[in-house]
Amino acid sequence: MWMTAQTDFCKRIAAKIDLQTNRHALETDTHLRLNGAPLGTVYCIGDCSTVQNNIADHLIQFLRGVAYEKGKDPETVEITFKEWRDVAQRVKKRFPQAADHLRRLDKLFEQYDKDKSGRLDFGELRELLHQVDSKLTSLPATAQRAAQQGQYLARKFNKLAQAAPGMAANQMDYGDLDAAVYKAFEYKHMGSLAYVGNSAVFDFNGLSFSGGLMAVYLWRSVYFAQSVSFRTRVLMAMDWSKRALFGRGSYFTFPVVRQAWCRMLTEHRFDGFLSGLSVLLYCIHTMLELD
Ligand SMILES: Cc1cc2nc3c(=O)[nH]c(=O)nc-3n(C[C@H](O)[C@H](O)[C@H](O)COP(=O)(O)OP(=O)(O)OC[C@H]3O[C@@H](n4cnc5c(N)ncnc54)[C@H](O)[C@@H]3O)c2cc1C
Repeated sequence: MWMTAQTDFCKRIAAKIDLQTNRHALETDTHLRLNGAPLGTVYCIGDCSTVQNNIADHLIQFLRGVAYEKGKDPETVEITFKEWRDVAQRVKKRFPQAADHLRRLDKLFEQYDKDKSGRLDFGELRELLHQVDSKLTSLPATAQRAAQQGQYLARKFNKLAQAAPGMAANQMDYGDLDAAVYKAFEYKHMGSLAYVGNSAVFDFNGLSFSGGLMAVYLWRSVYFAQSVSFRTRVLMAMDWSKRALFGRGSYFTFPVVRQAWCRMLTEHRFDGFLSGLSVLLYCIHTMLELD
């Protein structure tokens, strides 16, 4: 699914699935699969979706499974530093966005091993994971995230299609096939750009600078290059030209054209060229819906 945020369609889908509790967007896992839908049947990208990072829940469930397999009570499970390293590896693979918060594994282990036993018990581990969870923020609802998610899904679908004959031959038609053939989605922040009047501000992962007109044109070059269709580029070029000629939000910035337009409307007087020009500008403006 790919659509604008908070459409009626989004809300209707969320209302039908118990697991969808977010009021603003449809929740997916890190493989961009819609939570609550059968695995691998519905994917959701862009502004209408949000990626859920519930590391603690995921891992506690995983450890419970391991404990039950070994015939142990999960609440009595304790892990050593080596096991903690394996757990952290699993978290990084499944939740790439958490990798930054799991750099100093030794420090985290030391900090949460409250009784200094050299092991993390179930409660200590749960606390540690909740702490990592709380540091993760939602991915931004921007065009760069939507574009990265689209590319990610296209690559994954290709991988799934390539792997399909092999999986069919081995009767692999259940379980987490996405994780078997491809990595989880990882958002890479390329930077932020903004323009204010005749100046622009750039921030490329800590490297920030701002400037005047030159920066505005640099900003526009990036915007132009990143636009996805010829139509959008033409519309944008016309919009910028209109702004350069007549100013922001008004197609009658030139006083003489504005006066001719007013005379035509109020006194029903047509002043030849200038009135014709104002009508032409109005028509172009309406056709292109530039404002
Ligand atoms: C004023 C404004 C300024 C912004 N500035 C920036 C910026 O500078 N940088 C940046 O990165 N992001 C910016 N954003 C955010 C950015 O526009 C969005 O994050 C981005 O467009 C999301 O892309 P998308 O493909 O998910 O959704 P959209 O671009 O909204 O595309 C979804 C498409 O789905 C279609 N659709 C909707 N409902 C249905 C349906 N039921 N059936 C079929 N089709 C449907 C829509 O018509 C649309 O074409 C801005 C947003 C706004 C509103």
